[in-house]
Amino acid sequence: MAIKSKIKIMSHKHCSLIVIFSLIIFYSCVEKKTFPELKTPAPTEKDKLKGKNGVWHTIEPGQTLWRICKAYQVDMERVAKINNIEDPTKISVGQKIFIPGATQVLKVEPYQPTTGTISKPVPTPKNSPQTQPSTWTDGKLLFPVPGGVVYSYFGKRGDQFHEGIDISAKEGTSVYAVGDGRVVYSDDRISGYGNMIVIKHAGNLSTVYAHNRLNLVKEGDFVKRGDKIAELGSTGRTTGPHLHFEVRIGKEAVDPLKYLEKPSSQK
Ligand SMILES: [Zn+2]
Repeated sequence: MAIKSKIKIMSHKHCSLIVIFSLIIFYSCVEKKTFPELKTPAPTEKDKLKGKNGVWHTIEPGQTLWRICKAYQVDMERVAKINNIEDPTKISVGQKIFIPGATQVLKVEPYQPTTGTISKPVPTPKNSPQTQPSTWTDGKLLFPVPGGVVYSYFGKRGDQFHEGIDISAKEGTSVYAVGDGRVVYSDDRISGYGNMIVIKHAGNLSTVYAHNRLNLVKEGDFVKRGDKIAELGSTGRTTGPHLHFEVRIGKEAVDPLKYLEKPSSQK
């Protein structure tokens, strides 16, 4: 009802804001469906020992946690939590990890580094299947979490579509604005996203920062590239601290790796 009266007094220049909001609400519903495994109860220690309600996967050379979880179509954050893996990038060959819900051990293709880079940002069509992490293009936007590691990529995730990337870092790590812009949303009203910020930049570009422990900016604020805007956290639907980060051109979510600078923390 508050929204209704707001809309009444909104001028045309605010229309884009409404579009963004309705989109956010729409995509929050989409994102909801990416966590169907939450319905199945977490396996107990006993289950794990007996290999019940899941299987033990032994990590082979070239396998990343991301690829393993993709092969089994399970949520990586959940697997990391069950196996007490704090840093998904630090797993070792021979290590056994418990895959909840799996009925048999699957073959996981090792990671083959992609050669050659794409020089121009190419928005990925929504429905195109994306089976591996996209190439980092070294764009112009600042990487929002210095020292953070991208562990979940933009694209198809199981039978759902991940609209952004997930960057893991310690709870409370500083989150920075990737470019100059105006804060058009800073709240926790969108189910699943927790404390979230949306910044509108020049050129019809917006960026989204979700699951923050604390938002440090408010709607209407103007921010500069590199301004601290939030503290990284795990509010909303998450299984551990991370930043869910999106880049949108108009209403279309695009692959953030084609727009972000490649940080030194990312191999
Ligand atoms: Zn995410």
